[in-house]
Amino acid sequence: MTVQFPLNAPDLRALDKAHHLHPWANFGPFEAKGALVMARGEGCWLWDTEGRRYFDAIGGMWCTNIGLGRREMAEAIADQVQHLAFANSFVDMTNGPAALLAAKLASLAPGDLNRVHFTTGGSDAVDTAYRMVQYYQSVMGRPSKTQMIAREYSYHGSTYISQSIGKRPGDRVPFFRYKEDGIHHLTAPNAYRAPDGMGEAAFCDWLVAEFEAKLAEIGPENVGGFFAEPVQASGGVIVPPAGYLPRMAAICRQHDILFVADEVVTAFGRLGHWFASWEEFGVQPDIITCAKGLTSGYLPLGALIFTDRIWEAMAADGARWFTSGFTYSGHPVACAAALKNIEIIEREDLLGNATRIGTLFEARMKALEALPMVGQVRGRKLMVCVENVADKATKALLPEELDVGTRIADTCEAMGLLVRPMGHLNVMSPPLILTATDVDLIGDTLEAAIRQVADALV
Ligand code: PLP
Repeated sequence: MTVQFPLNAPDLRALDKAHHLHPWANFGPFEAKGALVMARGEGCWLWDTEGRRYFDAIGGMWCTNIGLGRREMAEAIADQVQHLAFANSFVDMTNGPAALLAAKLASLAPGDLNRVHFTTGGSDAVDTAYRMVQYYQSVMGRPSKTQMIAREYSYHGSTYISQSIGKRPGDRVPFFRYKEDGIHHLTAPNAYRAPDGMGEAAFCDWLVAEFEAKLAEIGPENVGGFFAEPVQASGGVIVPPAGYLPRMAAICRQHDILFVADEVVTAFGRLGHWFASWEEFGVQPDIITCAKGLTSGYLPLGALIFTDRIWEAMAADGARWFTSGFTYSGHPVACAAALKNIEIIEREDLLGNATRIGTLFEARMKALEALPMVGQVRGRKLMVCVENVADKATKALLPEELDVGTRIADTCEAMGLLVRPMGHLNVMSPPLILTATDVDLIGDTLEAAIRQVADALV
């Protein structure tokens, strides 16, 4: 297939460099290098405008679950555009795809999470969850429960509130203001970096005790919600110790604190399930936030899936105005894309594939721990991260200015593989259509890149 572009590749890069402020722009390197201009995608592969091919082990941005370039997605989207490109879903209007998708999500979500509110992505889903928690607690006669608890190294989005709920140390730059009052952060459940070299079980006890101590300090009557990614994705693929999430959820239940599972990354198959909080970790959340894999990145869409109990409490309130929502909430074309995406995941058993190939992928990546510079490979199924260190015994990091994650990612890119650099880490979240051959390709290329970078650093 040939793709026609109105401009040649160098022009696109120059125009982009002159006019486009990228999300999370890193000005220095961007000035020096400019952007990679992507032109085409098919399955797990991307082609840039100069015809170079890359295997996308980043999966777009944790999102291209069914892979790119699917004709039936294009047809479903085009069909919906022709029938009804837009109708708002405010107050008392809806559209077919939004209604069908809400019902489908209710059928896939665990327990009595039967109610759905659409957003345009993950950040505004988390923002809305923050409001929903406060609304719910207030109508339940607990108006003082306005404060939230989250974790260090979490990422919940890039709006004011979602970024304040998240807390990756590197993101907290002095020239942005975050909401500090009423949002508290507990230690990330990263057993690799547990204090005093604690074992996993002892660390789990310590984390639970920390939560209880924090509640005692703030007063549980002031805490409305606990926000947690089942696996902390952008904070470094942190898989919590066994039993941690159910124990945290039990404490939440005991104190009428809503458990908000931020499944923006983990839902729709990345761990081999529709939703990881229940199916992988045995936690029944009160609210699930999701986006990304909901449409596999074909169109922007996010959602909150929440319990009948929350709906009924909010509906019983005298005011009955849930004063939140966006022009594009329940967008018919995005919802049609999500329905087709879910149909494809079901028909091709991509959850099964994610489990089978994910297990292989996890094992191949784990083998990288044999390399002297790899301190730990962690993750689960199709969410994996390599932690590069200066010293495996002490777990000391390489100097920040060496930017080891970027060096490895750049070396991979030159070899035709995209992995995501995050400080000293390299992160991967490939599409669910991954094959055993792809696993070898990622493993072999990444291994060669890490060796090459390690040799250059000696
Ligand atoms: N929550 C989690 C766990 C995420 O990883 C992200 C994005 O990576 C978000 C929320 C924000 O989603 P979006 O970028 O669609 O606003």
